[in-house]
Amino acid sequence: MPVGCCKDINSMLAKFWWGSNEEKRKIYWLSWERLSRAKNDGGMGFRGIEEFNKALLGKHCWRLATGGSSLLEKIFKSRYYPKSDFMCANEGYQPSYAWRSILSARTLVEKGGLWRIGDGRKVRIWKDIWMPDMKIISSRNNNCPLSDDALVMDLIDVDTKQWKRDMIYSCFDSGTAKQIISIPLSLRLPSDTLVWNWEKDGAYSVRSAYHVICDEKERSLPGPSVTRKNKVWKEIWKAPVPNKVKNFMWRLTKNILPTRANLHKKGISLDLQCPLCHHEVETTNHLFLHCDLMKLTLFASHLGSHMPLQVDLFDWILSWLTCHDTLGTQLFCTILWKFWAARNNVVFRGDKLEPVCLVDEAMSFV
Ligand SMILES: [Zn+2]
Repeated sequence: MPVGCCKDINSMLAKFWWGSNEEKRKIYWLSWERLSRAKNDGGMGFRGIEEFNKALLGKHCWRLATGGSSLLEKIFKSRYYPKSDFMCANEGYQPSYAWRSILSARTLVEKGGLWRIGDGRKVRIWKDIWMPDMKIISSRNNNCPLSDDALVMDLIDVDTKQWKRDMIYSCFDSGTAKQIISIPLSLRLPSDTLVWNWEKDGAYSVRSAYHVICDEKERSLPGPSVTRKNKVWKEIWKAPVPNKVKNFMWRLTKNILPTRANLHKKGISLDLQCPLCHHEVETTNHLFLHCDLMKLTLFASHLGSHMPLQVDLFDWILSWLTCHDTLGTQLFCTILWKFWAARNNVVFRGDKLEPVCLVDEAMSFV
């Protein structure tokens, strides 16, 4: 699929998710890239079409790199790399669309494929990944007689079927040399095989390739360490509450509920005061941690929580999600969820928020 087409599909999916249509453009609270992250990473687990497409293309690359005898391989080989192999092939003269697409996913094979050494005839010492630590060898001693394109076979003694220890120690630093010598060699010296490092059986899978692509994208995005937040999301998705409550908890911890402060951030001008207490700006933190109405609600509930003043919203939610008291967790989540619904009724219907009624409703819901 062309990249443009992938983008169109993503944008259609995003419109559907946020409920936009031709007449009404809704606010997108999270970028599609963030939404499509795995659930434990705070996304909704949607697959990015572009990444998925690349993972699928990677499968063709994998077949070409591991050498099959398919018709596709014969055609590509005769046209684009008659004298070399797929991993060294160039784009060539007037490349076809299919060929360019496949080449665009070749880096995936380069990064996720590990050469298992047989006779060392296919593997380039300084250019391919064949060390157990998945790193390309960078060390090279000054007196090393091997060329840049030397093959691993140059390090193997074909008569004894052993590593050429002396040569290896003279070419590499001692750490690298030890690693090389620790790689077992078969007496039969079979041909080298490329194994996919992210699956136990060494076979390429679209699923693991997709995750490799997304992890890499994730690492290239700026942002603080996310371990604590990941833990919260993991706990939310397995919490013993209905999906609509989980969904609400997720939006709360992503700070994408349309509180007045969040709407203001999206460029909407409105009164920023909390609609419940009128004392402070209505941020997520204020509404769920500091607002008097929230405190009254919790006080009225069996949870009896007097909230410490300096608690962090994340820590507070996490402590309730991991308290090992199923009923406590359920009630806690349900109260927050009902509280947000009641807040909306105050804003949109002019209702009054009654903490005791709200707690009763939450209790009977649980
Ligand atoms: Zn308030």
